[in-house]
Parts: sequence; structure tokens; C-alpha cells
Amino acid sequence: MKKGIRSEIEFYDVCNLSTLTKKIVVARGNPLAKLMIIGEAPGAKEDEIAKPFVGRSGKLLDKLLENAGFDINLDVYFCNVIKCRPPNNRRPTMAEIQENLPWLYQQIKLVNPRVIVLVGATAMEAILKTNTRISVLRGKWIDWEGRLVMPVFHPSYLLRNPSKEEGTPMSFTKSDFSKIKEKIDFL
Ligand code: URA
Repeated sequence: MKKGIRSEIEFYDVCNLSTLTKKIVVARGNPLAKLMIIGEAPGAKEDEIAKPFVGRSGKLLDKLLENAGFDINLDVYFCNVIKCRPPNNRRPTMAEIQENLPWLYQQIKLVNPRVIVLVGATAMEAILKTNTRISVLRGKWIDWEGRLVMPVFHPSYLLRNPSKEEGTPMSFTKSDFSKIKEKIDFL
């Protein structure tokens, strides 16, 4: 059943973006993992390799996860709200998000993660349907359709704000991932 996610998504035109890009980027990691990471959309590197979070942001995300104690090949399943790269890395439109959401819901249903981490505002807004700022909701556990969900800052924002001092986005995110690891170990 889990093998079917890619072929199912590829069978259809996921959205209008799929005609503009080379690849449909579905997932990376372990579909049996308890933890699902949902990002915004593929960038240039992700489009090239057809895997999510393989560029600079992805490398930082991997490092944050590894530092918190996760094995990124075994413990995590990575995907995005949007399956195709938006032109010039622009933010996806509401219409594109709406078009892609049924695929994400299907992915969540098939992978059935215990915990979902929403990486960045686009993923947070798409799933939680909220206008609340990510700086308010990050690090908080939220019940979403019976699953534990936590928004965290997007690694591209952390790359622009690299200070590790106490009280910075980077230090908050490190503690968010430790909190996530504690929860997963407990489940
Ligand atoms: N940013 C995302 O949100 N997803 C990716 O796959 C890469 C960068």
C-alpha cells in the first residue's frame, strides 16, 4: 500500500505546476516512520533530484534532526504541501495549495504518522487553516484530526538568521526538535 504513494500521485497531473517543472517531488525517508515532516514546496535542488529537502534548507533540517537524536533515514518521512517547484521559488498560491492538498491528505492517511511537524508558515497555514503567526504557534503541540502536530520555523528562515544565541529563532528551533524527540520516544 505504501509503495503506491508515488505512482498514485504521478498518475495524475498533481496541479498546473507539474507542466512547468521537471519532476514531481513526493517524499524522502521512511514511510513507516512515526514522524512526518511537511515543508512548503520543492526548490531547484529538490526539482533536480526529485526528493524533498535536499538543498541548503534540507541540510540544515537534517542537522537539526540529527542533533536532536533522530536517524534521518529511519525515523523521519519528509514531504511537502506542494509537489512541484513553483517558478523562481515563489510562494505557492492559495489555488495551488488547494489543488495539492488532497495529495497531502492521502499521503498522511497512507503513512499514518503519530507526529507531524509543519515546517514554515505555508505548511502550517495549509494544514491548520490559521492566520496566527508562526512565531506564536511554533513549539506548541496542537491536536489536528487526532494527530499531534507542531509548527516550527522553516530552515530557510534560520539560514537567514543563523545566530545560535539564546532567544533566537535557531535556539527556539533546536529546543522544538528536542521536544519532538522526547515526545516520539514516549509514543
Ligand atoms: N523547502 C521546502 O519547504 N521543501 C523542500 O523540499 C525544500 C525546501
